[in-house]
This record gives sequence, C-alpha cells and structure tokens, in this order.
Amino acid sequence: MGGGNIEFGLSQSADSGQIVLQMRAYLFALGAFFLTAAAFGGATNGPAIVPLPQKMEVKEGRFLLGPATRIQMDEPSAATGEYLAGKLRASTGYSLPIYTNDEPVKGRIELTTKGANGALGPEGYELDVTPDGVSIKAPTQAGLFYGAQTLLQLFPPQIFSSTSVTKVAWEIPWAVHIEDEPRFQWRGFMLDCARHFFSKEDVERVLNEMALHKLNMFHWHLTDDQGWRIEIKKYPKLTEVGAWRKNASVTPPRNDDGELDTQNAHPGWSAPPKSAYGSDGRYGGFYSQDDVREVVAYAAKLHITVVPEIEMPGHAIAALAAYPEYSCDGGPFSTDTGAGVNRGVFCVGDEKVYTFLDDILSEVMQLFPGKYIHVGGDEVDMAAKKATWGKCDSCLAIMKSHGYTNLDQLQGYFTGRIGKFVNEHGKVLLGWSEIADAPLPKNAAVMDWIGGAVKTAMSGHDVVMCPTSYCYLDYYQSLDHSTEPYAIGNFLPLDRVYSFEPMPKGLEAQYQSHILGGQCNLWTEYVASLAHVEYMAFPRLCALAEVTWSPKDKRNWDDFSQRLRTHELRLAAFGVNYRRDLSVPIGEWKSSASGNSTNIQWDVTSQIKGAGQYHIVFYFAKGSGLPIHSVALLEDGKEVAADNHAGYAARNPSNPVYVLNLTAVKENAKYSVQASVGKANSSGKVTLYFKPKAQ
Ligand SMILES: [Zn+2]
Repeated sequence: MGGGNIEFGLSQSADSGQIVLQMRAYLFALGAFFLTAAAFGGATNGPAIVPLPQKMEVKEGRFLLGPATRIQMDEPSAATGEYLAGKLRASTGYSLPIYTNDEPVKGRIELTTKGANGALGPEGYELDVTPDGVSIKAPTQAGLFYGAQTLLQLFPPQIFSSTSVTKVAWEIPWAVHIEDEPRFQWRGFMLDCARHFFSKEDVERVLNEMALHKLNMFHWHLTDDQGWRIEIKKYPKLTEVGAWRKNASVTPPRNDDGELDTQNAHPGWSAPPKSAYGSDGRYGGFYSQDDVREVVAYAAKLHITVVPEIEMPGHAIAALAAYPEYSCDGGPFSTDTGAGVNRGVFCVGDEKVYTFLDDILSEVMQLFPGKYIHVGGDEVDMAAKKATWGKCDSCLAIMKSHGYTNLDQLQGYFTGRIGKFVNEHGKVLLGWSEIADAPLPKNAAVMDWIGGAVKTAMSGHDVVMCPTSYCYLDYYQSLDHSTEPYAIGNFLPLDRVYSFEPMPKGLEAQYQSHILGGQCNLWTEYVASLAHVEYMAFPRLCALAEVTWSPKDKRNWDDFSQRLRTHELRLAAFGVNYRRDLSVPIGEWKSSASGNSTNIQWDVTSQIKGAGQYHIVFYFAKGSGLPIHSVALLEDGKEVAADNHAGYAARNPSNPVYVLNLTAVKENAKYSVQASVGKANSSGKVTLYFKPKAQ
C-alpha cells in the first residue's frame, strides 16, 4: 500500500461532484499524512481490528486470497456468504465462486452455523485463519455477519473499496484465532433527519458505515419542529405541509460580506444537496412508506434494527403546521422556526389528539418490525407547558379530574396513554429521559441523555445510555472552532467518547441487565449534507463501537489510537469523509509551576512549515485550571509573533486558542512557543495547528 490508495478511496466517495473535488484537494494536501499512517498499518503490528475482539490469538502464518478462492457456506448462511463475497469481489475484482456443498477445499473461506459454539451468544462468532483457509462459525447469521466484518479488517484496508483496486496483495499476514461477542446488545447511532433531510441513499450509506463497526441499532429521528419526514397515508398534509420549509437554515461558512462562501468551505462542511429542494424552491423532503420499507429491509440485511422516532408531545411544530387543530390554541405554526425548545406541543386534553396520534403510530408500527417505538417526550419544559397546557380548558379539565397538582403529571398521563397503545400492539415504548419524570408506563424503556438511569433501571425499566457529555456528535471535535465547521457548541473530542462507560456508577449488579447499551446521537441543526454527517460521526462512532462491543478491561486508549491509524485507511477506502485531526501535540503543562507568572517553553522547530498562522491550543486534563496571560513565538530566542489575550484552560475553558502570525521563516532558526501563565494547579496538553498563508 502507499500513496496510490488515496485516489481510489475517493472516486466513489460522495454524491456530488463538488464535494468530491473539494475532498480531493483536501486529501491531496494530506498526502504526507496518509503515507505515514500507511506505514503504521503494516503487518508488523498485528491485526488492527475496530472494535477490538474479546479474544484473539495471533500466530505465524499467512492466508492469500486469489481469484480461485472459494467461498463455501451451509444452506442457511447463503445471504451472509453472498454479502462477504460481494464485498471481496468489489475491491479485488476476483470472481470468487460460491459453493454450498460440504466438500473441504484447500484455500476456501467457509461460513457455517454447523458445529458452532452455542455459548457464544446470539451475536458471537469464531474466526480462524490458517494458510489452508478461513473458517467463520457462529450459531446465528448475525454472528456470522460480524465474523465476516472482522475478516474484512484482516485484509489490507483497500478491501473496503467498492471499486476494484489493483497492485494489492490480498493477504492476511497472520494465522489468527478469534472468539468474539459484544458486551452490549444495544450499539446505536441516531441520525436526525428532521432538522435536515438525508435521502434514502444517504441513510443506506450510513447503515453500511454502521455495519462496518458492528453497530446494530439505527435510531431514525423522523419528526421535529423543522420537518416531518415520514409519509402517513391517513394524514397526507403531514408531509405535504410539514416536510417543507422556506430556508434550509444552513450555517456558515460565510465571507466577510456575510455571503455563503462555499469556495473556502471547511472540508467537513458542504451545502445541502440540490435534491433537498422542491420544485417551488423550498427545502425539505420525506420518505414514502415504500422508502421506509426499503430502508428497513436494507438495514435487516446488515443485522441492524431501525428504531423510528415520532416526537410527541413536544417538538411537534411540523405536525401542527399541517394540523393546527391538534394544538391547545389552534396555532398557526410554521416549520420556519428556530432551533431549540419551541412551544409547539400537542394538546393532551383533547380526545381527537389521541385518535390522531394512535392513527399515526398504527401506520408507523406496521412499517417497523422491531420492537421499539421511540416517541420522544423530551424538552417540553415548564415554561412551554405553562404557555400551552396551562392555558387550555381541556388540558386543565384532565388535571382536575385526575387530581394532578403539577403539569409534569399531565405529561405522565399523556405518556401513559401512548404507552398503553404501543403496548397493546406488542411494541415497547421508548422515550427520552424526561418521560421518567412521571411514573413510566408498563414495559417502557428510557433513552438517558440527561441523567436518571440508575433510578430508572432500579425501577425495572430498560435504559439506553447516551449522555450528552460523551455521546452528542453535534458537539465540536476541537476547541479551535476556526478549524471546524460551525457546530452547536460544547466540546466532545474522540478520547472522551472512548472514555464513555455505559454502565452507570452505583448501579447494583442485580439491575445491570437493564442497561441495554449505548448510543451516539447526531442532531443536524447545522449539518445539511452526508459529507458533513460523516465528518461529525467519524471517527467518534468508531470509539462508541468499541465502548459498546469490546470487553471493558481490554479497552485502552493508546492501543485504540494506534489501531485507528489503520482503521482510518479503511474509512478512506470506503470513501468516508471522516475528520482528520490536523493538529500536533507540542507539549504539556503540569501542576508544578508556582508564582503568579511563569514562562513555559516548547520547541516547535520541526513544526514550522512556512509563513502563516500557528494556532496554539491549551487542552485541560486535570486540576483547577490554567490562567494564560499571553503566548509568543520565539525565533532563536527572539519574539517574532505574539497573542496577548487572556485565556483560561479548564473544564469550561475561555479563549484557550492563541494565534501566532509568522510572516517569514528564517532558515536554520530554532523556534519555540512560549506561554506566560499564572498559578497552575492543573495539567494538560498543548497542540499546534498550521494554517498556511493564503496564496
Ligand atoms: Zn390542551
């Protein structure tokens, strides 16, 4: 492998020529990085599997895939065998004949449920690679499928290309024995398709990316204030009206005149696709029921369950724009609404509303064979409740007849009725944390984003963990916002996702089985294209995959970071627009400094690449925080650039980014960064990012 593998990974990378060109230019600049990473992906380090398998033995040996390699499977495993063959054929260009007979052939890849170890569980598998062949055994097709995913990762990263790649030896340079099964049954990803619309093809691509990481629950956020995205036959206006709005509401990049500046767009950012505009120029789109069936079937082939989310009683403006009669005050409502908590909520005192919602859920439940139906329930805060239910005669009548003293009880009443309806249809109601503010309906499960998991699990209800501080992929991936596409705020770096522990502290062993697993959520208020979705999701979703699949005691950040260098080559081969971290660590600070002002210096000679901006960022790790007075760039000990603003590196930092403008590089000079800092009862690391001067 080498530089040549950059090109092929991109030729099928995106759906618009503009994005491809943009990414090509971007990756061209990264060529050097790729070569370095490729060198680390070689055979010497052992397999770099993500997520890490439970048990793996690596021995001397090698297996070579050739045009005559047979794929052999038992009858029930035909679909899994075809899937694997399809992947291998696409990148190798080999014909790879398939057989379903039992005759052992040298050099074959065998997939079978026969003789599988039943103790491996419903998603477990055993994988053996020897010079004579490959064997994947699993008690279920899901297990075999995951075995096939692991096998793909044993080949060179180019195996993930969807077009044929030449000049690669399709060799597994080890003999391997793997026994593997996931730690958690819920390994999820939520994509918000309401704030921005992503086509059926986009969603299917995301499903493929999930499968690559053994993620198995796709939470499809289908309705919100800004858009209703699923066809409901009985209420056509939901999509005729609710799926469209005036503005795409895309956020920067903008130039100094405030105009959209797509020329200089960040590689993570791209404009909404043209297909997301209707013939009248409005922004939006929706999935027909046929589209939904197709996506669900597509996911099932990848052993992914699709969990639909229909938001209620809040985040309902798109529905109310179409049918304002189901609100307390009759509206009007518009999908051209800002992000955040809005006051468009369903009336919970009007019987007509329950008929409306039951009708919708009946159609939804027919489309989704999985057992979970997510009904939202979040962010109807007390102000919103008071402004709507608190002023509505029907809602207040329910309060009175049930003796409620608090508007949260009214939401409990609503969740109870919807939960009962969902239950009667053999499904499980799932809702955000807030549904647990009132007694939960029978069997209901909670998706915990703001706390409460321990109490909920102890009350006998299942919980999926997705706390904002570890799982919200709409947060920034760097403190240096000028180097990132515009995001909602906050900071969720890769290592923090990796440090996520889904089992809540303090939950006694007897209740731990109620924690189903973990999930990352991508809200898309500021994300309007698939390329941007991929930028926000990867590699953070790779970390979540390992958190939810691999044994807790095997997780190791340094080891993961090392494997990720190879794994990123797979993402590149697959054409994923994952985030590349272009900053480099230049040093650390520790709690030893004393006095009101101290200078710390780091040698950066090797990082000086030319004239331009050098961004110095302070990333806090531990302690009380570091006051920063100023940062300077020294050339042979003499200051040549400085940024004198006051900053503070802490858990909640303030202005921790320093920009040093170097006008010209002096040959053979020694460069260092010097920070003047205050009392430092803390530690952290310092990074440098180079932005060349515009030509
Ligand atoms: Zn009402």
